[in-house]
Amino acid sequence: MVSQRHSRQRDAVYAHLCARYDHPTAEEIYFSVKQEFPALSLATVYRNLTQLCEEGKAQKIAADGVVRFDGNACGHSHLICNLCRSVIDLPLDAEPIIEKARTMTDSDILSGAIMLYGTCKNCKMK
Ligand SMILES: [Zn+2]
Ligand SMILES: [Zn+2]
Repeated sequence: MVSQRHSRQRDAVYAHLCARYDHPTAEEIYFSVKQEFPALSLATVYRNLTQLCEEGKAQKIAADGVVRFDGNACGHSHLICNLCRSVIDLPLDAEPIIEKARTMTDSDILSGAIMLYGTCKNCKMK
């Protein structure tokens, strides 16, 4: 059945995304999942990832023109390396900053995350 095969591929894309914490691009997910599903196309991976984001199961992170995906859809902060473009999870509490922004703008801000840019530990050692 066609739809069943498609949902199995989607499950594999999602499982793969959740199993890694390096915020892969659609291409990176495609190359890994393709080993299990040789018929998989990059367009399908894009579609699956977009659906997962729309359903709130994943999120998109645009880092320096490169779109990456995160299996952790809960608001959390990131450090983006300007040199290797890696995206690192930051267990930072953004709430105090959001609270400040609420006061500053007199707006109802529901959620948010902090994006920091710089040089990661690995690149600094090179
Ligand atoms: Zn780096
Ligand atoms: Zn993340």
